[in-house]
Order: sequence, then structure tokens, then C-alpha cells
Amino acid sequence: MTLPMKDRFDLPAGIIYLDGNSLGPLPAGVTDTVAAMTRDQWGAHLIKGWNVDGWMAQPSRVGDQVGRIIGAPPGSVVMGDTLSIKVYQALSAALQMRPDRKVVLSDSGNFPTDLYMAEGLIRHLDHGHALKVVAPGDVAAAIDDTVAAVMITHVDYRTGRMHDMDAITAKAHRAGAVMIWDLAHSAGAVPVDMAGCGAEFAVGCTYKYLNGGPGAPAFIHVRPDIVGGIDPALAGWLGHEAPFAFDPDYRPGAGIERMRVGTPPVIQLAALEAAMAIWDRVDMADLRAASIRLSEQFIAEVEAACPDLTLASPRDSRQRGSQVSFRFEQGYAAMQALIAHGVIGDFRAPEIMRFGFTPLYLDAGDVSAAVEILARILRDRLWDRPEFRARQRVT
Ligand SMILES: *Cc1c(COP(=O)(O)O)cnc(C)c1O
Repeated sequence: MTLPMKDRFDLPAGIIYLDGNSLGPLPAGVTDTVAAMTRDQWGAHLIKGWNVDGWMAQPSRVGDQVGRIIGAPPGSVVMGDTLSIKVYQALSAALQMRPDRKVVLSDSGNFPTDLYMAEGLIRHLDHGHALKVVAPGDVAAAIDDTVAAVMITHVDYRTGRMHDMDAITAKAHRAGAVMIWDLAHSAGAVPVDMAGCGAEFAVGCTYKYLNGGPGAPAFIHVRPDIVGGIDPALAGWLGHEAPFAFDPDYRPGAGIERMRVGTPPVIQLAALEAAMAIWDRVDMADLRAASIRLSEQFIAEVEAACPDLTLASPRDSRQRGSQVSFRFEQGYAAMQALIAHGVIGDFRAPEIMRFGFTPLYLDAGDVSAAVEILARILRDRLWDRPEFRARQRVT
């Protein structure tokens, strides 16, 4: 299948969408699938849907679809909850695996919720753990035999900087630490091979590059050889070995099923499952090559036309995910002006203008058109208006 495949998305006319790294657009067919599902399954079958429509099996069925994109074997990924919860589950399991070690290692480029969840877990465990946060470039050097778990987001949400997954995993394992990768900005964006890298855990969300829609459920992957030893901290009934025995005591479910917690978001999973159909026709190596081409074009054209912006992403495409960020002191207002002119990216404090490149629905013409508009906004100071400076709740 050649890229882009714009007809597979319902994008509004006249918009150039450079924010699929934050919320993927609506794939064609999802609206109809969700309408049919609510009418024909929920509406017609009522509670029988759990059995006749396979709702209860959905979290692992869709998990296997996500598993194919991240190189994880069947039966090693399950869907549910949000990414913050999955981070908590992975980290609590990792700390149980290394009871004599007290350090959780992460980096300052990690997304705040990952760090907050770690802090909260550590505080409530009250076992003397400490969260050690180092600069992204210092992670490998900071791994030693005090580290229980290395918990890192593969692609930095702010700068797009991408860690070397194989090298860091190997270093963690040599030091006896458990490895947790957050793939929020990787799944569907860059090739990932969980089986090949051998990390114990991976987590991620599906509303970014996987286009599952706002509030789409998260995923967790656990390496098959260790999942049987996990005693889940969030021991919910649907992770029980026999939920409908209504046993007063918890017994973990078989394999990855134990990482389920409560009732799955069936309608959101139906939307995600429909959105996932596209990936059967995408070669991740082609996608990556196209993403690098678009990103390199964007960097070159912005640097030529917008002297006030400075590149915040690594210049070497091998060290970059599928987004490009630029620093600009008036970045918030400039992004608001850009959005008002039909080019949607986003802003991350204090001064990062962030642009996601998704070759599924973007081509070189879109990139040039976006840069032209950006250059005009900066040259003519179109951002310098009170309505563009006023901060909204979501940036
Ligand atoms: C987007 C993102 C999240 C969001 O977590 P939710 O619980 O889904 O809101 C968490 N971590 C990282 C690294 C992210 O990029």
C-alpha cells in the first residue's frame, strides 16, 4: 500500500493536521462501525452482548492487533484503562521482581504523569524506594546494580528525542534491572520490536498514532516468561482467574489477562478495533522512511523561512521519533495563530511548538503549505494579538 492513504481518514477540508502525535484523526469507517455496534450489539442484544458479541474477549483480541505493531507475540498484550494506570501496574510489578533494590530510574524528558505515578507508588509502598531522574542523555550511564527498574519513554513527548531501545534494555539487563518502555509516541510511529529487545514491560496509549479516538484505552505488554509470576497491585475482578466465580479471594488470571482491572470500555474498543484495520496494509519500514522524509523537509524549510525558530529536536533522524519541535519564545501565541490559519500543531510549555508527522495522511505538499503559512505568521507578526495570547485549558 502506498503512502499516504488520505482516503482512509475523515479529515476536515482545508486543515493540515500536524497533531496526530497528540490525538490521531478519525479514520474512515469508524463512525459507521461505532453506530452499527451500538445499535446492533448493545441496542439489540443488551447484556447478552458480553457473550454473543465477544465483548469480554475484546481487550486481548485488540491487544494482539497492537502487539503486531510493537513486535510483541500474541497473548502478551492486553487493553484497558489509561496509560497512567498501565504505568502504575508495570512499575509496581517491576518493583516486586527486585525486592532488594530501591531505585527507579527515569529521565527528565519523561511525560509528567509517568513520573507522578512513580512518585505516588513509591510514597504509598513506603519501602524506601527513590525515583532518580537524570537527563535523557545520561540514562545509560546511570544504570547500576542499585536500580530496580528503568522506566523510560522511548520518544520524548516534548523534543521527539528517541532513546536506543536495544542498548538501554541490554544495559539494564546486564545490571540486573527490570526494563519498562513507554511507547506512547512510538506505537504506530516508529518500528518497535519488543520481542527482539527483550524488555519485561511496555505500555502505551492508542489515541495518538493509533487513531483510537479521545479516551481510547491503553495497552500493556508483559514478556511471556515473567507474566506468570506477577501478583497484580491492581487486583481487579476481571483480572481474576474466574471472575464469575465471585470468589472472595483474588487469584490472578492466566497470563496477560491478569493485567486487566475492571469492565472494558467496549465502545471505545470497537472504535479502536475499527481504526486498527489500517495497519494490516502498512509496512512499518515504509512508514518510518516516509516520516523521516517529511520531517527532514519540514526542518529544512522552516530553517530557511523562519529564522526566529530554533530546532529543539535532534537533527539526526535516527535519534528522532515522528515529530519535530521548535523553540520560539512566543510559541503559544504563534501556535494559536497557526491553528486559526488551518495548520494544527500544539504547544508544550515553556516555549515548544510541536509538529507531528504522520505519513498515513500527510505528504510533501502539506508540509510546504504548512511552512508557508507558519513563515507568514512569523514574518507579519500575525500571532501578536490578545486572542492568540490567552491560554486555553488544553494547550
Ligand atoms: C500521552 C502520554 C500519557 C498520557 O497518559 P493517559 O493516562 O493516557 O492520560 C502518558 N505518558 C506518556 C509518555 C504520554 O506521551
